[in-house]
Amino acid sequence: MEPIYDLIIIGGGPAGAAAGVYAARKRLKTLICAETFAGQSAVSPDIQNWVGAITISGEELASSLRKHVEAYADDILSIHDEIVQKVEPQEEGFIVTTNKASYSTRTVLVATGSHRRKLVATGADKFEHKGLTYCASCDGPMFAGQDLAVVGGGNAAFETAAQLLAYAKSVTLIHRSPDFDRADPITVEKVLTHTNMRSVRNVEITEVKGDVFANAIVYREKVTNEVTELPVGGIFIEIGQIPNTAFLEGVTELTERGQVVIDPWTQQTRTKGVWAAGDCTNILYHQNNIAAGDAVRALEDIYKTLHTQ
Ligand SMILES: Cc1cc2nc3c(=O)[nH]c(=O)nc-3n(C[C@H](O)[C@H](O)[C@H](O)COP(=O)(O)OP(=O)(O)OC[C@H]3O[C@@H](n4cnc5c(N)ncnc54)[C@H](O)[C@@H]3O)c2cc1C
Repeated sequence: MEPIYDLIIIGGGPAGAAAGVYAARKRLKTLICAETFAGQSAVSPDIQNWVGAITISGEELASSLRKHVEAYADDILSIHDEIVQKVEPQEEGFIVTTNKASYSTRTVLVATGSHRRKLVATGADKFEHKGLTYCASCDGPMFAGQDLAVVGGGNAAFETAAQLLAYAKSVTLIHRSPDFDRADPITVEKVLTHTNMRSVRNVEITEVKGDVFANAIVYREKVTNEVTELPVGGIFIEIGQIPNTAFLEGVTELTERGQVVIDPWTQQTRTKGVWAAGDCTNILYHQNNIAAGDAVRALEDIYKTLHTQ
């Protein structure tokens, strides 16, 4: 089958949108397949570091990203609200299969971002958004003056604790391992010296309790088996991000965490014809501006490749 599209962009977050604007303006015949045209920060009430906007809500950002792409879409770019399930290399190009159809394309840009790792414990699902949250910057201020728990032991957990300490009565960081070896020692030291901060290590969280809202977290000490029920007003989970890349297994190289391995000079993956950008890749930092910038770099390289090879 002759490839119909020059490029299929998978994802409609800051990376997918930035790629879309550049692709349309470069007159590449492009299809964006996005499950939702909104990035992860769409739930954030106040984003203060999107360059060019002093403050913007996540919802406004999502809508302005889509409008920007649509403004240049013309007859060269289309957006389909579809979930990509498969990318299959062909003799020439790729077949991309979604939950609705299959499309052929010369190149693919993966910009599928990531989602939060969920806490597995009795009651964790039941109390999600009812006192148990995955976003301190979104929900933290609603818990001012309360005793709070942060679950996790990496930099994100410590940064969340530091943020909450500004207005919480106390913060208890609960970690499953004996050491904080996945966080920077300087961050750990600084946060733990705060008078309202304490940490519990080497424990397994067994339950989140509550009535309408969560009001306690239960954990078991791994060595002694001692069980503690800690009363809390809010629980913040920071146990990692999972890249949305399951559909790429066997198509291109992924890290053991599922991140797409890229060449940071070009955003090319280990599979010819496939590029990736943003939070789904094995880059160190995850931010809206970085995702958009990485996607622009990818587009420059895709354009050059399509026109010179
Ligand atoms: C709560 C929260 C607040 C944040 N606040 C900030 C902030 O203030 N400032 C900042 O710079 N960063 C912030 N971040 C980080 C920022 O949101 C991310 O770095 C950024 O969204 C990454 O962009 P992305 O385009 O790579 O991926 P994402 O934003 O994750 O977008 C991925 C896109 O891919 C789509 N998708 C996924 N799988 C498929 C599939 N199989 N088929 C089709 N489409 C698919 C999704 O629907 C979505 O459109 C925040 C993150 C969170 C979770």
